[in-house]
Amino acid sequence: MASRKWAAILMGPPGSGKTSISRTLATNPAFQVIETGNLLGAEVRLGSPLAQKIQPYQAAGKLVPADLVGQVISAALERMQGNMVLFDGFPRSMEQVDLLFEVLKKQGMEVGAVLIFALDLEVAMKRLSGRRLCPSCGALYNIHTSPPREDGQCDKCGGKLTQRVDDQEEIVRRRFESYERETAPVNEFFRT
Ligand code: AMP
Repeated sequence: MASRKWAAILMGPPGSGKTSISRTLATNPAFQVIETGNLLGAEVRLGSPLAQKIQPYQAAGKLVPADLVGQVISAALERMQGNMVLFDGFPRSMEQVDLLFEVLKKQGMEVGAVLIFALDLEVAMKRLSGRRLCPSCGALYNIHTSPPREDGQCDKCGGKLTQRVDDQEEIVRRRFESYERETAPVNEFFRT
């Protein structure tokens, strides 16, 4: 009999630690992670055909339209091997819940676990304002809590660290509002 394939879903507002946790879990080779925000960001950085459609939404802290997210997630799932996938940052709206079940069905997968993190805006603001990212290898740092050894330089690959445009205060506020409006109903859906 073919072994079952499972999906685990990490939910939570910006800055709640979804990506840090998923990367820790992904050190176990049984887990494969789909980091939705980073996958969308990678399309933009590569200047793929989808880049121009995705970029304005990400830069403004708004949700990227579900059909584009669906394309990126489906392509990532096709590339995956193994029986356990962790979704970091997907689904973020009820429309995307339908999309989730559609893509899982195609892959013969089921939802095995949903983890929901909570965090208030003030703490998120502090965390995100200190966050730095290596655009070359994707490593994450925080200048307050986990700084690189050399200022502004990635420990892993020597790349120049950058700050995400959407980690600016005004945009973080908007991302939080979008979370409350569009993603909180998804949390409720999984709780019931
Ligand atoms: P994150 O890195 O998870 O904070 O995501 C960064 C940005 O990518 C978000 O503010 C959105 O613009 C976009 N994004 C990430 N995940 C999704 C998603 N599931 N649906 C729509 N947009 C998303």
